[in-house]
Amino acid sequence: METELVERLRGVYRDLHAHPELSFQERRTAGVAATWLQELGYEVIESVGTTGVAGVLHNGAGPTVLLRADMDALPVEEATGLPYASEVDGVMHACGHDMHVTCLLGAAAVLADSRGEWSGTVTVVLQPAEELAQGAAAMVADRLFERIPRPDVVLGQHVAPIPAGVIGLRPGPAFAATDSLRVTLHGAGGHGSRPETTVDPVVMAAATVLRLQGIVAREVSGNDTAVVTVGALNAGTKNNIIPDDAELLLSVRTFDPAVRTRVLAAIERIVRAEAQASGAPEEPRIEATESAPAVINDPAAVERTRGALARVVGAERVIDPGPVTGSEDVGVLAAAAGAPLVFWLLGGADPAAFVGASSPQELARVVAGLPSNHSPRYAPVEEPTIGVGVAALSAAARQWLA
Ligand code: ZN
Ligand code: ZN
Repeated sequence: METELVERLRGVYRDLHAHPELSFQERRTAGVAATWLQELGYEVIESVGTTGVAGVLHNGAGPTVLLRADMDALPVEEATGLPYASEVDGVMHACGHDMHVTCLLGAAAVLADSRGEWSGTVTVVLQPAEELAQGAAAMVADRLFERIPRPDVVLGQHVAPIPAGVIGLRPGPAFAATDSLRVTLHGAGGHGSRPETTVDPVVMAAATVLRLQGIVAREVSGNDTAVVTVGALNAGTKNNIIPDDAELLLSVRTFDPAVRTRVLAAIERIVRAEAQASGAPEEPRIEATESAPAVINDPAAVERTRGALARVVGAERVIDPGPVTGSEDVGVLAAAAGAPLVFWLLGGADPAAFVGASSPQELARVVAGLPSNHSPRYAPVEEPTIGVGVAALSAAARQWLA
């Protein structure tokens, strides 16, 4: 890559990192991306699904490739001490989406500059609100695929605390499906000294929480994976008042769509049955607040792309990271486009931390000790992360273009 482009991208990265924006508020970031793409000659569509940006580069007959990045930051107070740390109180690019935008803009430039060497159409999508698992769906609902050509493949990457210069690529289920639920259990409150006049939602909630633990233990096969976490249980104000209601907040992670369906159905069955067993005066309310399907990489498309990634970092540095219980909504774009998905992990951790760690076990031990995505100390190294991220995206795209 030309050193001038590398220098410009480092400036973009530092600027985005210093100016993080929360989900669905990525106006400045979207503006930076739109201007960059326009200067390269892309047709640019802005404000797709609130702040989303799409760019299209037509270059003769051939396949269409979609490259995707997410733009949002998190409500985290940065503690990296970096000279380009966040200038916004309580907001930080703690998930590395600034790196995703930077690498995508770099790849857009590399592909535009090399357009004499390929033919087809490159589309780039910068989506809002990945952290809410809502941004991809918002762009699709705003007619994204009526406004840009439908792609033959969707490509993207997520920076992770594996060594910079290493790429994690896994066919099949790669990131878990996520479902966040809010459950409201209705009881009938009263004086704590007279429980016989009430229906106690605290006991109802406690029974429900314990019973939910049986789903993964007793209803999911030992060969499958699922997580059901009750992350919050809210009820009551004082020791001698039995409240009217109790609220549970659940996080559910699954990889197999059939397991997901079964787990969600089991949650609903248990919540309703426990309410009935308690004599609840009203049916409980179950609301899905956030949801994204599992990231399922198309095995044939992964194999087709693997060679391009191996040429960037070396075949021995394209590793299988195992299934990730974190979640991503990039699969929503691929599903809506009816295209195969290839989504990989981009190493961002300082390679110096891994000196002497050669076995997968040693590698995993070092990774476990490093700040992870969403940590206030998460700080991918700029190089070689940016260079590899740009090269990986552009090489993968070229693999699919004519
Ligand atoms: Zn995140
Ligand atoms: Zn992320």
